[in-house]
Amino acid sequence: MSMTTSHSVPFFNFQMVFRRHQEEYTRSIINTVEGGGFILQDAVSEFESSLARFLGCRYAVGLADCTNAMVIGLRALGIGHGDEVIICSHTFLATAQSVYHTGAVPVPVEMRADRTIDPGAIGPAVTSRTKAILLTQLNGRCCNMDEVSAVASAYDLIIAEDSAQALGARFGGRHAGTFGRFGAFSFYPSKLLPCFGDGGALVTDDEGLAANVRSLRNHGANAHKVLDAGCDVWGTNCRLDNLQAAILNVGFPHLPAALARRRQIARTYHAAFGELNELCLPPGPDDSGRYFDVYQNYEIDLVERDALRDFLHANGVGTILQWAGVPVHQFRNLGFRQDLPVTDAFFSRCLLLPMNPYLTDEDVLYVCCMVRAYWGRPPWTTIVPTLAADFVALTP
Ligand SMILES: *Cc1c(COP(=O)(O)O)cnc(C)c1O
Repeated sequence: MSMTTSHSVPFFNFQMVFRRHQEEYTRSIINTVEGGGFILQDAVSEFESSLARFLGCRYAVGLADCTNAMVIGLRALGIGHGDEVIICSHTFLATAQSVYHTGAVPVPVEMRADRTIDPGAIGPAVTSRTKAILLTQLNGRCCNMDEVSAVASAYDLIIAEDSAQALGARFGGRHAGTFGRFGAFSFYPSKLLPCFGDGGALVTDDEGLAANVRSLRNHGANAHKVLDAGCDVWGTNCRLDNLQAAILNVGFPHLPAALARRRQIARTYHAAFGELNELCLPPGPDDSGRYFDVYQNYEIDLVERDALRDFLHANGVGTILQWAGVPVHQFRNLGFRQDLPVTDAFFSRCLLLPMNPYLTDEDVLYVCCMVRAYWGRPPWTTIVPTLAADFVALTP
């Protein structure tokens, strides 16, 4: 590819979400609304079954979004006033908000090089009030669940998972979202499985927890979806819309191909950037058999972050800073006082490159060429093939 080609690669193109499977989506939307299926109808239960089957867990409950899924999941576990919940500071503020809205206090701790929580930072943050760790399975990668589980059992802490970025990610063959008492997922349009607005789910193997969450999402209604005088919980409304569920049912069969494409792009970025010592790359798709990463994001780490970013933007490549460049503990006005130097340093260096299944081969090669061109390296022309193993690992 010529360096002079005028090309542009937006960080994310929201119009592609619908366009990718336009006819299927249109048919499903019309069928659903023509049939009057708006609230908690068949599309929701069909989606819940597909999600549970894909993850290999017993229950999935469709919810309005991931933030509310975490709020009611934590509430259903009895977490509230007087409790503390440990989180990684490298997460969306929503993780902390969900803890706050139960009445508990979120306690952010350090990350480590793979961008997930540092298991060694958990113990020192534990107090007599600590009840749980709400892990973030970040960038389409699971935390090292052996190490985290060992710490959690040593301190008798509940594990729950913010898996908004990790649908399909695995550690040791097991899916993100299925290690803790519950996992929460997001179907925000730029997430791994998109809907056309807000959508989320909670998954669990715990029958009682699933029943509580079903009740809490629907104003405290009983199993027959009836709100009777026996109601003894303060429920809320955070149901997954039936129409969003219908949209998710269309997207679900296409998920394995979309995740395999993300892994292929990551493999190509890895090949193209491997020789650039100036860049610290995220773990690669083939780095370890224990991890199966699905690349919600491709987050690089480099001293010259701002200069590379300016160069890429000048050449039409969209990038963003995750969380707009602000990890949780830096929200001082929300009361955080933690001193987290590893995370502070990382946030002066990190950058997200375009990473989504709507990128064409030409887009991917253009990004590769432009990053290499910043350091005067010759163009890159090879898309690394998708491995059959990716599809095998992604098929339930
Ligand atoms: C997107 C995201 C959320 C929020 O999901 P919503 O469905 O928008 O509430 C929470 N945590 C992480 C890590 C996310 O990436």
